[in-house]
Amino acid sequence: MTDDQTTVARRRVVMASAAVLAAAGAAGTAALLTGERPPGRPPAPGPVAVAGGSPVRRTPRSSAYRLHPLTGYGPQRRVPARPRARRRPLEALPGLGHAMVLTFDDGPDARYTPAILRTLREHDVRAMFFVCGEMAEAYPDLLREMADDGHVVGNHTWSHPLLTRLSRAGIRREMESTCEIVERLCGAPPQWFRAPYGAWNRAAFRLGAELGMEPLAWTVDTLDWQEPGVRTILDLVEDGAGPGVVVLSHDAGGDRSQTVRALRGYLPRLLESGHRITVPRRRYD
Ligand SMILES: [Zn+2]
Repeated sequence: MTDDQTTVARRRVVMASAAVLAAAGAAGTAALLTGERPPGRPPAPGPVAVAGGSPVRRTPRSSAYRLHPLTGYGPQRRVPARPRARRRPLEALPGLGHAMVLTFDDGPDARYTPAILRTLREHDVRAMFFVCGEMAEAYPDLLREMADDGHVVGNHTWSHPLLTRLSRAGIRREMESTCEIVERLCGAPPQWFRAPYGAWNRAAFRLGAELGMEPLAWTVDTLDWQEPGVRTILDLVEDGAGPGVVVLSHDAGGDRSQTVRALRGYLPRLLESGHRITVPRRRYD
């Protein structure tokens, strides 16, 4: 990433964070502020609108996903069983017993995701990847690799917008187009959804449920988006490790070399100290 790109990316984060604050304040809701940031690489198509400073990019208009009924006839699409619409996302996952979950958002990114996949493979560990559709489109082989390795691929919208600033139709486009590309590349539609910036609203919960996805947040934020240093990330994960914990990391959206190095450090230590790392099964009602 060039300095200019970095500057732009940082500006977008600041602007988007401000927008999250405004949205949370206006709605009187407790939007989870995590500093989640948009993918650093913006593949075409480019921005079409900057509403309140949030990055909003055009999503594909034609989506076969939309053209098929969710509960229709024939073999067209295997939309997962529709969960009930929640009012807040799942955070900890107590149904996991003593196990915990590692999640990676915003990717895939050719600079970081392959190393993360390699480390997970070395330790025979499965994780969750909440991918953006535009990144999946840019790096389809990495999505296939995730699926081949048994990781769970979740929906993190197409272009990482602030959903609380979009119309219901806009949210639907973001979510459906990402469901479609995940299904096309991985062979199965996503069963999990995570809102960018942790900024959920009722429409997102309802649409996610319509599309057969459960909303998943997290309990431990590694703060890797702040590039706090490998040691800090290690400490946050190891101090926060425990049954049902969901760890948030990022494999795209900026310089994620610290995330890659931290994983190489904490993963074997967690396993050696008796923690089990797994992926959740649906459903948690
Ligand atoms: Zn994100």
